[in-house]
Formats: sequence, structure tokens, C-alpha cells
Amino acid sequence: MTTSIEALVPRLREICGAGNVITDRLELRTYECDGLTSHRSVPALVVLPGAAAEVASVVAACAAAGVPFVARGSGTGLSGGALPHKDGVLIVMSRMRSVIEIDPVSRRAIVEPGVTNLSVSKAAAPFGLFYAPDPSSQVICSIGGNVAENSGGAHCLKHGFTVNHVTGLQIVTPSGELAWLGDGTGVTAGYDLLGAFIGSEGTLGIVTKVVVKLMPLPEVVHTLLAAYATTSEGGRAVSDIIGAGIVPAAIEMMDALSIEAAEAAVQCNYPEGAGAVLIVELDGPASEVEAELATVRSLCEKAGATEIRAADDPAQRAVIWAGRKSAFAAVGRISPAFIVQDGVVPRTSLGAVLARIASLSASSGIRVANVFHAGDGNLHPLVLYDDSVPGETEAAEELSGAILDACLEQGGSITGEHGVGVDKSRYMPKMFGPADLDTMQLVRCAFDPVSLCNPGKVFPTPRLCGEVPGHRRAPHPAVAAGQAEIF
Ligand SMILES: Cc1cc2nc3c(=O)[nH]c(=O)nc-3n(C[C@H](O)[C@H](O)[C@H](O)COP(=O)(O)OP(=O)(O)OC[C@H]3O[C@@H](n4cnc5c(N)ncnc54)[C@H](O)[C@@H]3O)c2cc1C
Repeated sequence: MTTSIEALVPRLREICGAGNVITDRLELRTYECDGLTSHRSVPALVVLPGAAAEVASVVAACAAAGVPFVARGSGTGLSGGALPHKDGVLIVMSRMRSVIEIDPVSRRAIVEPGVTNLSVSKAAAPFGLFYAPDPSSQVICSIGGNVAENSGGAHCLKHGFTVNHVTGLQIVTPSGELAWLGDGTGVTAGYDLLGAFIGSEGTLGIVTKVVVKLMPLPEVVHTLLAAYATTSEGGRAVSDIIGAGIVPAAIEMMDALSIEAAEAAVQCNYPEGAGAVLIVELDGPASEVEAELATVRSLCEKAGATEIRAADDPAQRAVIWAGRKSAFAAVGRISPAFIVQDGVVPRTSLGAVLARIASLSASSGIRVANVFHAGDGNLHPLVLYDDSVPGETEAAEELSGAILDACLEQGGSITGEHGVGVDKSRYMPKMFGPADLDTMQLVRCAFDPVSLCNPGKVFPTPRLCGEVPGHRRAPHPAVAAGQAEIF
């Protein structure tokens, strides 16, 4: 522990209570990584504040001492966004988990950031309302983490991402002041600072209250599962459905390897021998859904479906979803280690990129299972490898990077919903030019001129220098001379 952190301990105990400040090395290791376990760093100190005012005082104390700090929700992030700073304070939001208010008239909820995503919908259900963004991790991930990552989910195709459902945030600025962004109505005047904050991966401040929109529970929900011999046939069905002007609540696809993994894990009983399954969910007023269902079924058949199953009651629908929802974890059954990649391509390029992934997999001998939000063109290739075999980790990482290159070549993105974090900062210069990165850095500096708030994330850093606080400068001479890499 550095001397500046040691000096902070009594003050932090005073703010949060001694039991909510962790200094024991073994206990600190609990927090050494998020869902991306290949990056680990033990924090110098962990605090668990119980209220917004405590978060503000903790941040103010860190800022005064020049100590870096990182917010952590439930630690399910997949890009290392909540990776602690080894000389910094990790501020864990899990004690702040109250649903403060459900207002059924204005259809909104005010919640603390540690509340899990699914708890918001559970609290709203008695009023006939729900919170739409639904990451597959919704049982455990926190709303604060969702805001920081602008999280998506299967139903974001129709309903939109987190940014479309948050109308106000109480934040603690990186200097330790409490402030509000947005007034909770969704109407803004002036610059959209709320929009800038959502998806900023914990680099612009810490969320302490969230105002979210609630939507009426749909009158009916129909889920349809269609099996195909190949992903390209399933892809054709996706294009045809969207081309027909139908926007389903969700369109998800899984390939043969991910079906095999899900079958081993949850016995989802998907059609035997299927090379791909497509899950299409329609929700809304009964008459509209019935009409759309007939069209979707016929388009799925025309695209070559070998079997179609439909379900409209919650238990049967849950059976269809079980395989998809378990897919990431299920892959652990068929491989000792795997990388969850997250890239986006225009929907029309899905076939080309899947073919490229198959050829990269064949030439490298590394298996790739594909699970994806097909309607959004958001791919989640799962790169399977054995980390006990020398060289396989590096080969898997290389393949995973080549998949992102393929997404960029098609005009796509290096992330759809899992964020940049530490994992993908090296890809940022492939997607953005220096002027774009400078502009983003200006935004960051407007909130946090000394880069104490979640430093080392999102932005590429000259390898020899470490992160340089403040505005992005001209390239380091070693970088300009080609002697050091930006990563
Ligand atoms: C099995 C599995 C399935 C997943 N499925 C999806 C999916 O379908 N869609 C999707 O988008 N993601 C998915 N994820 C990724 C992950 O669950 C989301 O990114 C989620 O929003 C992270 O929330 P968290 O509470 O775990 O945040 P953490 O991992 O703790 O933190 C994530 C980031 O948020 C910041 N942060 C956390 N709390 C705050 C706060 N209060 N204020 C400011 N910054 C904060 C952290 O600093 C970090 O940068 C999945 C993950 C897993 C493991």
C-alpha cells in the first residue's frame, strides 16, 4: 500500500464505517478482476459506501490525495472496465441497492446503482410495467454498470439500449461533488451531458442514483424457434423479416457449436442436428402480434427452416430461451477456456463475416462458437482454447483480434455492448482517427482533468509512458519513431 493510500484509510473508515473498508490482502483478491479474468490487478483498498453522500466524500478524499479510484458494480463486465488500479481505491456499489421509487403514473423508477437489472422489472411488475434493456447477465449485473457500459440485451432490437431508457442520473463528479444530469423527463436543453455520460465506462464519474423509464408489459408475447442447416439460411430469414417491415422484440441466433454447448449444460432440447437456430420474439397488442407471427413463420419457412416451434406461455418460452441465455457459461463445458468477443457488423454483412470467422477458425485450428443478437448485427464469437497448452492463449487472442478486424473491414464496430475497458483500448486507433480520439479525450478532461477516475481504460496508451493525464498530446517521440507501440 502506498503512503498516500495508507494515510487515507482512517478518513475512509470514518466515512463508510470501519467494516466497509477492506485492507486485508486476501479479501482484496476477491475484487482482482471482473468477468474478463485474463486481466487481474489487486486493488490497494476497497470501500463499500452505503449512500450517495458517502461516495462523494470517498471520491473527494481520493481527489485531494491524488489517489486513483475505480467504481465497481457486480463485476460481470467483459472488457475489464472494473479492473482495479493497483495503487488505487475500488469503490464497490453493491450496498446501494434500494429501489427508491416506482411511479406508475409517470412510468418511471428511481433506483440506486447497485440494484440488479432484473430487480427493477420485478419491482415494476405489480404496476404492469417493466424495464426494457435486458442483458443476459440481468439476474446479477447492476444498473450502475449498465449505465456505464450502455448495456444492451436480446430485446434491445425493438426497445433500444440503456441510453434510450435512462432519463436522469445523480453522479459524483471526479472531484467529489454530487450533481444531476438530465431532469428525469427525457427532455434536454443544451448539450446532452446525460447521453455523453451513458457508456463512458466509469471514466467520467460515479453514478449514485438512476432514473429509468418503465414500459407497459406487452399484452402478448410469442416466441418462435426455427432450425436451419446453416447460419446463412438463418441469416436470410433475419434479413427477410426486417425487410418485411417487422421489428421483433428479439432475433437471436446460435450456431451448431453453441447449440452443442447449451445442450450439454441445460438440455435445452433444440432440434437435433441443427446447424443453426433462430429465436424470434414478438411482443405487443394481441392483434398486431398474431398478424406478424404468421408472416414471420412463413418467412422462416421460405428461408429453409427444417423445424419451427412456437410458444406463447411463459414456461414454454423459458424453455426456448434457456439455451440462448446459458450459452456463454455453457461453453465452459466443452472448452477449458474461452474468449467472449463482441463486435458489430451491418446486418447485411453477417453472412460474409460468419464465413470469414469459419475460415479463420479452420486455418488456425481453434474452434469458434457463434451466439449473436442477429437483428442488431451484434456478434459474440466465443473463441475456445486450452490455456494449459503453450501458445494456445496467444493464438486465441490473435484469432479474436482478427475477428474484430473483419468487423471493421465491413464498416462495423469493435464493440456492440461489452465496452472497450482495458481489453480493447488497443483497437481504438483502428476504428478512430487521432482527431476523434482527441475529441473524446477533451470530453473526458472536461469531467476529469487529472485522470483519476478509472484511469487506463478506453483510451490507447503509449506503452512506454503509462497514461498521461490531461489532454491527449502529440505522439510520444518513441511512438513517432516506430520504437514503441500504442496499445
Ligand atoms: C454471462 C454474461 C452475459 C452478459 N450478457 C450481456 C448482454 O447481453 N448485454 C450486455 O450489454 N452485457 C452483457 N454482459 C456484460 C455485463 O454484464 C454488462 O456490461 C453489465 O452492464 C456490467 O454490469 P456490472 O454491474 O457487473 O458492472 P461492472 O462489471 O462492475 O463494471 C462495468 C463498468 O461499469 C463501471 N461502473 C460500475 N458501476 C458504476 C457506477 N455506479 N458508476 C459509474 N461507473 C460504474 C465500472 O467502472 C466498469 O467500467 C454479460 C456478462 C456476462 C458475464
